[in-house]
Amino acid sequence: MNTKGRLAPSPTGAQHLGNARTYLLAYWSARKSGAKLALRIEDIDSPRVKPWAAQQAIDDLRWLGIDWEEGPDIGGENGPYVQTQRVDLYDAALQKLINANRVFPCICTRKDIVAAASAPHESEIGFAHEGPIYPGTCAGWRAGESIPEAGTFCWRFRPSDDVIKFDDLVLGKQSCRPAEQLGAFPITQKNGNTSYQLAVVVDDAQMGITEVVRGDDLVPSTFRQIDLFAALGYEVPTFAHVPLVVGTDGRRLAKRHGDTRLSQYREQGIDADQIVGWAAHSAGLFDERQPVSAQSIVASFDWQKLSRGKCIVENDPF
Ligand code: GLU
Repeated sequence: MNTKGRLAPSPTGAQHLGNARTYLLAYWSARKSGAKLALRIEDIDSPRVKPWAAQQAIDDLRWLGIDWEEGPDIGGENGPYVQTQRVDLYDAALQKLINANRVFPCICTRKDIVAAASAPHESEIGFAHEGPIYPGTCAGWRAGESIPEAGTFCWRFRPSDDVIKFDDLVLGKQSCRPAEQLGAFPITQKNGNTSYQLAVVVDDAQMGITEVVRGDDLVPSTFRQIDLFAALGYEVPTFAHVPLVVGTDGRRLAKRHGDTRLSQYREQGIDADQIVGWAAHSAGLFDERQPVSAQSIVASFDWQKLSRGKCIVENDPF
């Protein structure tokens, strides 16, 4: 079977240590199993996209010693994988979902939803919910009925009533009932642009991705995406959700924890092998924290060895 992993940076700013660790884990896992790797620039869903950030992410990845067979800089059948250049694929998938009545046009504002909805507590569903569950206000729409004026609505996906399960390479067995625990979610924005959830599912399916490695903050999205894979008749990949990198205060790595941008380390002349060594050591894959090349970890990589707790990085680690 052809197996393929992917690296999926969002060019909304500089890539930092936390991103580096996730990309390295995706790389090690793919190379260990003999899978190919695709690089995809996820630039579709955010007003925060910066024009310089995609090239910088590519430079950061290469500096770390990561390589890929398919990507934005390759072209032909193996790229370019840049989401804003793939809109036709997303539109075709949306049309399929509209015809199957798996989506409805929603004119609610965020304020409307907050006023009418409840937000489940993490202890009830086993993971942090990102906001209130959609209360179903516009869900009565049926395929073939008239559609509100363009620009005034988003398309929202009707979650399945079934329990969705997956066996995560890191977290083990996961399950969720999306209709109750997640609710209907947007797959486009009101301006008509495709949203993250749909773009990722169409891309992963169309690119033949068999293994998704990403941060464990995306577990709720994974349930939504498995639901979308099924609705579109696509095969579901395997998932490995890796622990997030946090500062000493336990919060997700950010500017307040100091400057951990990879581009900044590059400019300072820090050796990439130091970053790789830190990532391998913090992930439990290497006993000592010492400089190593990305490639040298491949042979001994094993998901069973991965440290499960959050990865705490002290201020100014290099
Ligand atoms: N583009 C996302 C990020 O940079 C990753 C999304 C995904 O892996 O599905 O965090």
